[in-house]
Amino acid sequence: SIRTAAPVIEFRNVTFGYDEHMVLKHLSFQVQQGEQVTLSGRTGAGKSTILKLLLGLYIPQEGAVLLHGRPVSEIRDTERRKRFGYVEQSFHQVPGTVKDQITLFDKNISMEAVKRAAVLTGLDETIMQMEHGYDTECTPELFSQGQWQLLSIARAAAADPELLLLDEITANLDAETEQVVLKALKQVSADRTVISISHRTMAELGRIISI
Ligand code: ATP
Ligand code: MG
Repeated sequence: SIRTAAPVIEFRNVTFGYDEHMVLKHLSFQVQQGEQVTLSGRTGAGKSTILKLLLGLYIPQEGAVLLHGRPVSEIRDTERRKRFGYVEQSFHQVPGTVKDQITLFDKNISMEAVKRAAVLTGLDETIMQMEHGYDTECTPELFSQGQWQLLSIARAAAADPELLLLDEITANLDAETEQVVLKALKQVSADRTVISISHRTMAELGRIISI
């Protein structure tokens, strides 16, 4: 078969609004394999909306959102979940242990992969100091806000997604913690296609697409 050289992601002349008010108008951009880009634009410009369109949560009124040349709307949920790692500003804690937090996207993730993701984000040491390690039952106080955010990156990394989508993940953090998170992110981003949104420092990550 012929492998096409289609970009990993393409927005082709996309127009979209949640109602009659259009948020995105004739937006086109491409992201290539292994590329890291930052979406930049004023508040309300539609940055988070772009990620939601990519996740197939909404369908554009006009144009197409393509993954490897295929409309994302045609890709099944299970496949999409495998391909995309989506990290938001706030961490969604699930009931259970530390390990359960990291394996939320895929219960079949091996303990080895869980540990690798925690090492990558600098959390392994903290976790190993807990009496029950990865089997420690989580409470909100178990980790600091920055550590919870690192855990959300570990969660995404453990699932080993082809694509990472990051929405303002350092917005709630102080400057020092932001640096720790950004460092973890650079580790996780190596050899991966990444689309991130940020008002601030993370704009340093790769090419900037202004919307
Ligand atoms: P910010 O930098 O503040 O996060 P953003 O660029 O991510 O902004 P979006 O969240 O994509 O912007 O929102 C773009 C526009 O769409 C805004 O006017 C917003 O009010 C509107 N909007 C977002 N989500 C919905 C929704 N679920 N229903 C209706 N309107 C929405
Ligand atoms: Mg947003």
